[in-house]
Amino acid sequence: MNILLIEDDTIETMKLQRTVSKLQLRHGILEAKNGEEALSLLESTNALPDIILLDLNMPRMSGIEFLKILKADHRLKYLPTIVLTTSENRADLLECYEIGIAGYIIKPLKYEDYELKLQKVLAYWDINELVKA
Ligand SMILES: [Mg+2]
Repeated sequence: MNILLIEDDTIETMKLQRTVSKLQLRHGILEAKNGEEALSLLESTNALPDIILLDLNMPRMSGIEFLKILKADHRLKYLPTIVLTTSENRADLLECYEIGIAGYIIKPLKYEDYELKLQKVLAYWDINELVKA
């Protein structure tokens, strides 16, 4: 799969890259540092990613703002978007599901737990029928 990771924290980005390479998964990872950067990336490409992993807390454009724009766009709204956040805030959870997400994953603090969770998420999406650009 081609995964678009929208995340402002470089440590988090490295964690995903490490997980994918350690588990020898053949996924490509595209990176954006915030919602704004992700939107311009999506708007300027013909090759859309298969899934999006989205952080919520980011500067410039938050994950929720990004999600609202994505789901209102006739071309981009089909992209399965999985929230990957440290926010256990119920209001965030409700708002994300209301706008339209494909999952809401709390980032574990321990790397081993992170790897296990991400392995499951990626394996699940890998067997799904994906909307090809
Ligand atoms: Mg963040």
